Amino acid sequence: MIKKTCPECAEPIYGRSDKKFCSDYCRNIYNNKLHSDATNHIRNINNILRKNRRILSELLAAHHTQVPVKALIYAGYNFKYYTHSSICKSGGHTYYCYDCGYQQRDGSCHLFTYQHTTYFPYVDDHG
Ligand SMILES: [Zn+2]
Repeated sequence: MIKKTCPECAEPIYGRSDKKFCSDYCRNIYNNKLHSDATNHIRNINNILRKNRRILSELLAAHHTQVPVKALIYAGYNFKYYTHSSICKSGGHTYYCYDCGYQQRDGSCHLFTYQHTTYFPYVDDHG
């Protein structure tokens, strides 16, 4: 028979066969760690998304609607993270961070805010 071991302290588990931890103490420690890892992960992603959004919104506030992709990279923009995306009729992808979005074309990012998308014929109604 294979003895189960506690995932927290690696000690053998005695008692009921459905027991997962050697003690309540280990179960609590294990679950707290699990939780805080998930929380940290979510917090890190939220921070990236907020930073992305801030970069886009500051450029838009300064009336920059077209910037080189490099400029966003230098500003610390993380292209891997966005809140949602859509594909317009011409096949272009629009990536949003909350209310700010961009389309990448020819080495440039074309920026806009959610409510302004209707002014761009190449952007669909973000469905
Ligand atoms: Zn244990």
